[in-house]
Amino acid sequence: MWCCTSSLVYLRRSIRLRLCSRRGRSRLPLWIRETWAYMRLLLQSLYFNSLTDSDVVFDCVFEPVFLTVDYITRWFGTVFVCLVVILTSSVVVIAYAILLPLVLNTYSPAWIVWHLCYGHWNLIMIAFHYYKAAKTSPGYPPTEKNDRPFVAVCKKCIIPKPARTHHCGICNRCILKMDHHCPWLNNCIGHFNHRYFFSFCLFMTLGCVYCSISGRNLFLDAYHALERFKHTDLEKPGIPVTGMGPLIGLLPSGQTIYQTPAPPYTFRDKMIHKSIVYMWVLTSTVGVALGALTVWHAVLISRGETCIERHINKKETNRLAKLGKVYKNPFNYSGLNNWKIFLGVEKRSHWVTRVLLPSGHSPHGDGLTWDTFPVHKDVIPAVPLVWIWKLLKTDFALFSDVASKL
Ligand SMILES: [Zn+2]
Ligand SMILES: [Zn+2]
Repeated sequence: MWCCTSSLVYLRRSIRLRLCSRRGRSRLPLWIRETWAYMRLLLQSLYFNSLTDSDVVFDCVFEPVFLTVDYITRWFGTVFVCLVVILTSSVVVIAYAILLPLVLNTYSPAWIVWHLCYGHWNLIMIAFHYYKAAKTSPGYPPTEKNDRPFVAVCKKCIIPKPARTHHCGICNRCILKMDHHCPWLNNCIGHFNHRYFFSFCLFMTLGCVYCSISGRNLFLDAYHALERFKHTDLEKPGIPVTGMGPLIGLLPSGQTIYQTPAPPYTFRDKMIHKSIVYMWVLTSTVGVALGALTVWHAVLISRGETCIERHINKKETNRLAKLGKVYKNPFNYSGLNNWKIFLGVEKRSHWVTRVLLPSGHSPHGDGLTWDTFPVHKDVIPAVPLVWIWKLLKTDFALFSDVASKL
């Protein structure tokens, strides 16, 4: 505090001295010029930096907008989660209450078994991965003193940032291998829940596509039926009342009461058809939107990138290209290996037990340190052909030596 106060005193004194030397040139009172110079110096000290560029200026100008968006997203996180749960539950209720009896009554035994097995497996995978993605901590860097390598210091948390760590404005803390903040999960996607997030997107897309394809004919029938009901309602002529109704005597002469006949469908029929239309429209829309998002994330995972790193790497590629150099992502272990590391697949059986079944295994590594080359032999079973050739050459040379000595 003392240091800060003394700095301010020195700052004001230097301004005064600077103003004294210019006193002859301005007629404004000293206190106005002093305050003006002080404010200008403060402003310049806030944005002056040798690394200042258009991005920094853009960030500074839009900082209030970002803060407002972060604040709203933080507040609406719970609402979004409730929305996901309600919409998913509504589709499940329709599937159990309307579609399942229909399937059991009309489909062949083979199709019944397929729908029961696939539908339930898909539902379990969605529920499991959504719960795990929302509840698992994405991973945070240590706040206490440690000797772990770091690449920068977070200017908001004032702690060292390991490689791939970024600050989340909504969570207001640093996240290990941060991908993005997901409002639909009300959680950040980082090192420890990235797999759960991707699996949820994948299985939710599969579930939507499954509902959309298998319910297409039902949707068309329901849609046409609803259209028919609408036309029936419009064209209904009405039947003149011939009985002795209590109102007949009160009507002016020349008018007749028309009683609406009962519709040719029940309320239950109408609700069933509306539910099927609702389910098909919802699953098709979500399937397309979420499918596009899932494909995008699959491309990023294949490249060994996160959403944030995608922007950083693109920028770095362009920067080095101007210098005539090629940028190589240090966390890209090549297509299939990236997937094995991401999914935690260390042997063949893991493709079933860890990918196609609910699995709570931890991701590869601790998220604090990253190897620029694959670390586990199990993770990367493929041996490059060059290595095989070198081994064969060594063996052949040894064999030749032994043969010549004999
Ligand atoms: Zn931070
Ligand atoms: Zn976050």
